[in-house]
This record gives sequence, structure tokens and C-alpha cells, in this order.
Amino acid sequence: MKLIDTLNRPLRDLRISVTDRCNFRCVYCMPKEIFGPDYQFLRRDQILTFEEITRLARIFVGHGVGKIRLTGGEPLVRKDFPQLIAMLSEIPDVDLTLTTNGALLAKNAQTLKDAGLKRVTVSLDSLDNEIFKAMNDVDFPVEKVIEGMDAAVAVGLTPIKVNMVVKRGLNEASILPMARFFREKGYILRFIEYMDVGHTNGWRMNDVVSAKEIVSLIHAEMPLEPLDPNYRGEVAERWRYKDGSGEVGVIASVTQAFCSTCNRARLSAEGSLYTCLFAVKGHDFRDLLRNGATDEEISKQIALVWSKRADRYSELRSENTTSLPKVEMSHIGG
Ligand code: SAM
Ligand code: SF4
Ligand code: SF4
Repeated sequence: MKLIDTLNRPLRDLRISVTDRCNFRCVYCMPKEIFGPDYQFLRRDQILTFEEITRLARIFVGHGVGKIRLTGGEPLVRKDFPQLIAMLSEIPDVDLTLTTNGALLAKNAQTLKDAGLKRVTVSLDSLDNEIFKAMNDVDFPVEKVIEGMDAAVAVGLTPIKVNMVVKRGLNEASILPMARFFREKGYILRFIEYMDVGHTNGWRMNDVVSAKEIVSLIHAEMPLEPLDPNYRGEVAERWRYKDGSGEVGVIASVTQAFCSTCNRARLSAEGSLYTCLFAVKGHDFRDLLRNGATDEEISKQIALVWSKRADRYSELRSENTTSLPKVEMSHIGG
């Protein structure tokens, strides 16, 4: 049964967070002052097992989901993660992908490919070690992430996409070097506007470098022209280098909200379903899974949640909404 929400949006895309833990402490996502040594991460028994995730994923696919993105936290820090890929890749007609910080990618690329993963998105915010280390806040070097990307390409996890969050005052000087470098490499680079996810990153509108600003900066040196979206509801606005040397994307979640076509649901590591990245509250599915609910009952519950969905946070964003007690990005994934 195909689902439609109150704003006539179908359910197509499921993002699954497999852990709330991470080996980085990106300042815009898991600032060290909050996610320090005393921070209480979820216990193993609180997070969904691979069997539970796969069972839910199948039910979602039955509702029209055609794309599943695994995220976190950092998915590759979850023990035996490639096993989950192997289980999910058995579900037919699903575009299965992964977002990772790349730190453990070189080591895992071949196993992930063998398990059935098709492609991967790697996050990298700068090519300059001083800037990158100030952003990941765990002294992790750029070269290791590039090594991970290259390993992914070598085993055929392509096309590879690179995510760069741009925060004013931190890494806007890295926009052009990143564009030049990944144009040369032939990887699709996507710039993400810094968002007010969660309530710990101290977001201010002034910290956002707009997609428009990013595109004009690149265009002045390497002329760009717009490309049509690959499909309705695509998050990134696509641009092609006029000389045919590749493309870049901009994700303008703050300055050009795309809620009207948003078809994404998010499942947190502990099995709560969120119908918006900026949701304050999720819907618990772990209890259902662990208390003997049938597939049909779970399916009905998903339909009920989606049919009531009215989220359009980015269209309504204001000074008042930014301070709401929203769920953290590391909890439900990007
Ligand atoms: N750890 C993995 C990674 O970094 O790729 C996956 C999870 S991470 C939460 C998913 C994506 O969200 C990353 O590309 C990250 O850069 C982005 N992200 C995190 N916090 C953000 C924020 N405040 N604004 C915009 N993007 C953010
Ligand atoms: Fe970890 Fe990804 Fe968040 Fe950075 S953006 S802290 S790598 S979950
Ligand atoms: Fe979708 Fe919520 Fe983002 Fe709007 S704010 S695009 S509804 S996740």
C-alpha cells in the first residue's frame, strides 16, 4: 500500500541510524563539551538488532520505500556492520547506500562491496588539515579520509559522493579548493548549508553560508549551469561545470526549504520513527517489535504515523523554532 501524508507527500526514502556513537566530534554535530567522556550513549540492548532493522526495512519497502540510507552516528563503528549490509541487500528493488565520515572506510570497503553495498557518500569538510582537524575535533587527518574514498572507488562503490558542511568562519575558505580537487577526481561534491539540527551546536543564522553564495563563488572561477533533478524530491540542487568536467550539488535546507517534496522517514538507532529531521519526538517501534507485534500490525502503525504527517520545519524556521528541544543529528542521522 502506497502512503501519502497530509501534504500529499509519499514515503520513498528511509534513513536508518545504526548507532548514536561516533569516532569524530564534529563541532556542528557532536560538540565535545556535550558529547564528552560522561555522555550516556545508548546501551547495546537499547539499540535495534540487525534482525529488527531488517524486518522493519522490509515492511517499509512494502509501503513504497525504494531507497535506504544507513547513517548514524558513524555507521562503521557499529560491530559487524557489513553483516547488516548483507541482510539488507537481500531486499529486492532497494537502492541501498551509506553515509560515513570515511575514517574506517579503507579498511571496510571491500567487505562492504562484497556484502552488497552499491555506493557510498563520504563526509569531508576541508582539505586543509588545520581546518579539518578543528572541525572533526579528534585530530583526524584529511589524507586518511581521501584514502577511504579512493579505496571505495577502487572496489567499485560508485559513483562516490562527498558531503561538505559549510560553516561561516570555519571552512568557507575551503569551498574552492574542495571544488577544484573533487572536479579533478571526478567525485560529486555536495555542499550542505549548516543546519540547526539538535539543540547542542549553538546554531545561528549568521553561521550559514547560503547555497547561492557557494554557487556564485565557484561559478566565478569555474562556470556552472543548472541541471535537472534526477527525480522528484531530490535534496541536492545539481549544477554542472560548463566545460563538461563534472557536477556539484548544493543542499540548501536553510535558505531554500524543500519540505513540499520531502518523502523521507528516519529511524533512530533505538527504533523510533521520526517524520522530520527537526522533530522533537519520535514514534517508538522497538516496543512493538519486542512485544510480539505481527508484520501487519507494524505496517498499520507506519501507515498511521505517515498519514498524520504534517512536518515542514524548514519552511517555518524562525528564531523561536531554533531553540526547540529537537532530536540530535547523531541520533537520527543526516
Ligand atoms: N557520521 C557520518 C558522516 O559524518 O558522514 C554519518 C552521520 S552524519 C550525522 C550525516 C551527515 O550530516 C554528514 O554529512 C554531516 O556532515 C551532516 N551534518 C551533521 N551535522 C550537521 C549540521 N548541523 N548541519 C548540516 N549538516 C550536518
Ligand atoms: Fe560523527 Fe558524522 Fe556527526 Fe561528524 S557529522 S560527529 S562524523 S556523526
Ligand atoms: Fe523534510 Fe523536515 Fe527537512 Fe522539511 S524540515 S525537508 S519536512 S526533514
